[in-house]
Amino acid sequence: MSQTTRDSKGRFIKGHTVWLGRKLTPEHKAKLSKAKIGRKVSEETRQKMSLAFKGKPRDWRPSEEIRKKMSEARKGIKLSLETRMKIGEAGKGRIPWNKGKKLTEEHLKKISGENAPNWQGGKTAKLQLIRNSVEYKRWRDAIFKRDDYRCFDCGIKNQKGLARTVKINADHIYSFAHYPRLRFELENGQTLCEDCHRKTPNFGVKANMASRKNAKPWTVHAKCPPVSSQ
Ligand SMILES: [Zn+2]
Repeated sequence: MSQTTRDSKGRFIKGHTVWLGRKLTPEHKAKLSKAKIGRKVSEETRQKMSLAFKGKPRDWRPSEEIRKKMSEARKGIKLSLETRMKIGEAGKGRIPWNKGKKLTEEHLKKISGENAPNWQGGKTAKLQLIRNSVEYKRWRDAIFKRDDYRCFDCGIKNQKGLARTVKINADHIYSFAHYPRLRFELENGQTLCEDCHRKTPNFGVKANMASRKNAKPWTVHAKCPPVSSQ
């Protein structure tokens, strides 16, 4: 936005800062953007933003050039685990823009398998195969049985067909991915309800981020679920 710094006769108006093409240093820019974090956008700005999007189709995507710029600007910025979890929470229930859209054959080829940028020699496929194996299912069922289908953390019990059906998981105390030799050890498993499982550092996205080095077992709970016959 250009502000009028001169009056109708071309004279400078007193009290105006003249920027005359001054460039901001990266440090200054970083400071400015930091100051904006968490600030609520005013109604005026919202309207301006909505105006900028007007006439663009709902599934409008920024151009290749703009996207490159945006990704360039974000380079090196690490999101904290907390932020990532927040993003995940915020996205819950939202319909993704690409829902129902089919990728072209060509696009699929580009992003899947060995062509994928994060291809790790078929690691995921191998792990998935083990997770689907009979041995794995046997281990899981043994854990459930031993723990009486009860969450080890909160003690909730899965009673299929009865009033409450709780989703229970067999959790690996030492992570499945990082401790292959402990995958089928009964000692290394515990029954957790899905809510409690989510809180463990080995769950989902957190497991992927935990490096092999710090893949320590999370603290095993000292408290045992009340074993009352129900
Ligand atoms: Zn639980």
